[in-house]
Amino acid sequence: RGDARSLRRNHLGRKHQHQRQRPLAALLDPHIALTAVRDDDGKIVDFIFSDANEAACAYNKLPREKLVGTRLLELLPAHRETGRFRLYCQVVESGRFLALDDYLYPHDVFEEPRFYDIRAAKIDDSISFTWRDVTDRHGMTEILEHRARTDELTKLLNRRGILEQLEDLRGKTPRTGSDIAVLFVDFDKFKDVNDTYGHAAGDEVLRVTAEKLRACLRHSDDLGARVGGDEMLVVLHGVHGMKDAAAIAEKLRRSAAAPVHFDGSSIEATVSVGVALARAEESTDALVSRADAAMYEAKQRGRNQVITINGQA
Ligand code: GH3
Ligand code: MG
Repeated sequence: RGDARSLRRNHLGRKHQHQRQRPLAALLDPHIALTAVRDDDGKIVDFIFSDANEAACAYNKLPREKLVGTRLLELLPAHRETGRFRLYCQVVESGRFLALDDYLYPHDVFEEPRFYDIRAAKIDDSISFTWRDVTDRHGMTEILEHRARTDELTKLLNRRGILEQLEDLRGKTPRTGSDIAVLFVDFDKFKDVNDTYGHAAGDEVLRVTAEKLRACLRHSDDLGARVGGDEMLVVLHGVHGMKDAAAIAEKLRRSAAAPVHFDGSSIEATVSVGVALARAEESTDALVSRADAAMYEAKQRGRNQVITINGQA
C-alpha cells in the first residue's frame, strides 16, 4: 500500500515536472508563444513559434516539432496581407493587450476563411497568444465578401482588394518623409509560357512568383495582389525615396527570373516592372496608371527590367 502511494506520488511528481517544462501543453484552447524576429535596425520582420500546446498543433495540422521553431510568415503567409502580422507587431511594440472578436481570417490550412476570437499579450519580446474558432456563430455573407477581395489562384489580394486597401493606407498615412511606392508587375511573353508548357504550368509560375513577391514585402502595411491574368501589384509603405523602391523592385525582378520547376520542366519566366512613388495630390487610380505606364516602358525597352517613373503618365 505504502508502495502504491509512493508510486502515485512519483507519478504525479513527474507529471507536474512535465507541466512545468511545457506549461502551455495543459491548456485546452489553442495557445502559442510567438517570439519577435528583428532585423539589424531592430524592426520586427517575422515571428517564430517558440511554444505551442497540443490544441494549437492540432489546429494547424502539424506535430509540435514541426510547428515550434518555424517562422510565422513562412507557415502562414496570409498573416501579412490581412494585417494580422501588423497587429502582432503592435502588441510587442505597445505592450497593449490585444482582444479581437469575430475576426475574419483566411487561415492557410483551410479552404475558406474562418472567424476567430483572439487574445494576445506581450511577454518580454514575445506574445502569448490564444484563439477560438467561432465560425459556427456566423453566416456566409462575410466569408463571401472576403472571397470577393482575394485572388483564388495565388491567395494574394485581387484588384478590388488592393485598391481599397491602398486608398485606405493613403488616407491615414501622415506625410512623414517616407513614401508609398507602387510596383506594377507584368510577366513577359506569358502567352508563350502557356503555349510551351501548358496552362497548369503557367498557373504554377503565377503561384510561385506570388510567393517571391510576398518575400519582398517588409513593412507590415505592404500589400501584394494579382490584378489581372499575368499582372501583379505591390504596394510598399515607408520606402525612402525612389532608389529604395527601385532596389526592392529589382530584387523582385531577379527572383522572378529564377526558373520554376514544374512537371519535369524548368520554366524561365521574366517580369517587367514599373515603379511610381505616390504624390499627395494624385488619385490612387492615377498613381497605379503611372506605375502601369512605367511597366509599359519596360516592355518597350526589351522586357525583364525595372523602370521608374517621375513625370506625369
Ligand atoms: P507581354 O510581354 O507583352 O506582356 O506578353 P504576354 O504574352 O504576357 O501578353 P499579355 O500580358 O497581354 O497576356 C497575358 C497572358 O497571360 C494571356 C494568357 O495566356 C495568360 N494568362 C492570363 N491569365 C492566366 C491564368 O490565370 N493562368 C495562366 N496559366 N495564364 C494566364
Ligand atoms: Mg504579360
